[in-house]
Formats: sequence, C-alpha cells, structure tokens
Amino acid sequence: MIEIDGSLGEGGGQVIRSSLALAALRGTPVRIVNIRAGRKQPGLKRQHLTAVQAIATICEANVTGADLGSSQLTFEPKSIRAGEYKFQIGTAGSTTLVAQTILPALMSADRPSRVVIEGGTHNPWCPPFEFFSKTFLPQVAKIGPQITATLEAYGFFPAGGGRIQLSIEPCQQWKGMELMELGDKPVPRVTAIVSNLPREIAERECKTIERLSNWPSDAFQVIEVERPIGPGNVVMIELVSKHVTEVVISIGSPSVPAERVAKQALKAARSHLKCAVPVGEYLADQLILPMAIAASQGQKSSFRTVRLSSHCTTHIEIVKKLLDIDISVTQEQKGDVLVELEQF
Ligand code: AMP
Repeated sequence: MIEIDGSLGEGGGQVIRSSLALAALRGTPVRIVNIRAGRKQPGLKRQHLTAVQAIATICEANVTGADLGSSQLTFEPKSIRAGEYKFQIGTAGSTTLVAQTILPALMSADRPSRVVIEGGTHNPWCPPFEFFSKTFLPQVAKIGPQITATLEAYGFFPAGGGRIQLSIEPCQQWKGMELMELGDKPVPRVTAIVSNLPREIAERECKTIERLSNWPSDAFQVIEVERPIGPGNVVMIELVSKHVTEVVISIGSPSVPAERVAKQALKAARSHLKCAVPVGEYLADQLILPMAIAASQGQKSSFRTVRLSSHCTTHIEIVKKLLDIDISVTQEQKGDVLVELEQF
C-alpha cells in the first residue's frame, strides 16, 4: 500500500483528491495520513468526504476512515465502473472539486458516464463552475476525453443548492499537448451575477470595471439568478484568446462594497493580462493531473505559466509519487516558467 502524507507542501484537499484519483486509475491501494494538516480545521470536511465516497463508489473501493474530521484513511480500489451517478455534498462545498476527483477514472473508463453533483458552484478558493467548464475542460479535451458540463443551478455559500451535470466521453489512449503561447490578445468579457440580491449590485460592479478598464460596453452582462436558493454575488472576467480562455472571479460578501468586489476581479484580470502566458496560476496546478496521466501513457506535454504556486509544487510531488513520470520545471526569462511532463 502506498502511503501519502497529507501534510506534504500545501497540506490541503488536493493531496487527497489527486491521490485517490490516481489510486483509482491505477487500481493501487493507498493510505493517506495527516489529512489536510496544513489547514486551520484539518481532517475531512464535507466536500472531501463526498469526494472520497464518490470515487469509492465508482471503483467499488474498500475504504476505512471515511468520516467527517478523519485525519487518515485507507482506500483499496477495484475496477472502474462507468455509469449514471448522483453525489450530494449536503453543504455549499465545491462541486467542481468533487468532479476533479472522479474525472480521471471516468475519463479512462470503457464507456461513457453521466454524473450529477449537488453543492456549491461558486466558492472562494475553489474553481468556479465557469473556470471548470471554459478554462479547464477545453484543455482536457485536447488530451482526449470529451466532457460536457452544464450548470443546472447556482450554489453560493452558505446556502449551497447548486447542481452541475457532467457527460463524460472517455478515451483509452490519451494524447500529450502543448500550451506555450496565448495565440492572440485576450478579449475580455465581464459577467456580474446576483442571486437573491438587488440587480443594482451587479450593475455597479459592471460600471466600476467599465470606468476603470475602458473595455467596450458590449463586453458586460448582468445575470440575475432565476429561482435562487440563497443570496450570492460573483464578478467574473473571461479573457478569451485563441488557445485558452482564462476565467478570474471575485466573490461578493455582505461586508464588502460592490465596487471593491469589482476592483478585485479587475486586478486579477490585469495581472493575468500582464503576464501574457497561456496558463494562469490555478490552471497550472489543475493541468498537472491530466497531463501526468497522458505522460504515464508515453505522451509528453508542456506548458508555459507564471511562478508556480505551492498548490502546483505540491501537486507535482503527489503525482510523481503515484506515476512513473518526470516533471521538469524551468525558470525562463521575464519570470515565466516552463513545465514539461514525460515518461521516465
Ligand atoms: P485545496 O486548497 O488543496 O483544496 O485546492 C483548491 C483547488 O482550487 C486548487 O486546485 C486551486 O487551483 C483551485 N482554485 C482555487 N481558487 C481558484 C480560482 N479562483 N479559480 C480556479 N481555481 C481555483
């Protein structure tokens, strides 16, 4: 049994999610200790527990330690079963992070799957649905598996109640891919979303960004959530270029004025535009997993990004423990970083 130390590097949920995803894919048992030791409230929270249960269901695994607050677990997978699944987090925990745990197995299965996940769709410190569907999945599609993601209901903290649906067309032989250039100048699109809150909040957010950016007025839209479950507000900026769409967000909260929420989103967008690399901080750590799987099948991948986050360096350590691959990180001019993944 391979032992994974959950306190490694970032010491967060990604260590668990990726260890289980790869254990399921390889059919290898793992023991994870010190789960989320790097977090203020360590151990399994509802979102991680749902991810454990979801991947255990999909590969009929024997699991011990799958309890709320648990700091260690063992996971012994059997074979991967594609099919129709529904997983409910039961809180506003992130649906996209549960999805990332089960996707590698279902993307390599022998037939298609359809999965519904209920919980949060726009959470702080997690990929918002649009980042998942517009930034992450189109890159995964270049590697082989085709996934369609649909947002069926918005879920904001604390009410949750969001729902996403995934249709997964698997692929047995994954391809390598390169993401070295943006291709062209990114075109911005701004969306301000309000759920169970006055439309005027979203309008002020759009106006703030329009005034500070001089982007054309047709680049802005307001969405008022139909049938809201609870209050929520998010400002999202898509930067659409030839090879990649980056999505940055800022999440509103009751104590923060709309103008400040808007400025935070604009700051994140400007920082991405300034770097002019195709892969932003979050996409970098998330691309490691699918590219590593492709590399383990002999298919080389590479991408150019910004300075690696501790999520990314931790993720690299984890996948190297579970797959026989090499990942090299090279510092380039102007602070750009080149990441290359290949089989030993
Ligand atoms: P962890 O903290 O270990 O549970 O991992 C959080 C994951 O969420 C990492 O893969 C981050 O890249 C991802 N993430 C956090 N914030 C964002 C964001 N604003 N956009 C996209 N992904 C994000």
